Amino acid sequence: MKKIKCPFCGYEMPIQYDEEKAKAKGLFVKCKGRKCKKEFEIKINVK
Ligand SMILES: [Zn+2]
Repeated sequence: MKKIKCPFCGYEMPIQYDEEKAKAKGLFVKCKGRKCKKEFEIKINVK
């Protein structure tokens, strides 16, 4: 299993996914890093 990381600060989000099975786009989460809090899209196995 892999964890979602914030592309801005590298904070590891409490979201895990299966590298081989997961496919995602259009999902947005807010970074929980204290100084970051930016919203980013979760993209897994999509171009
Ligand atoms: Zn962040």
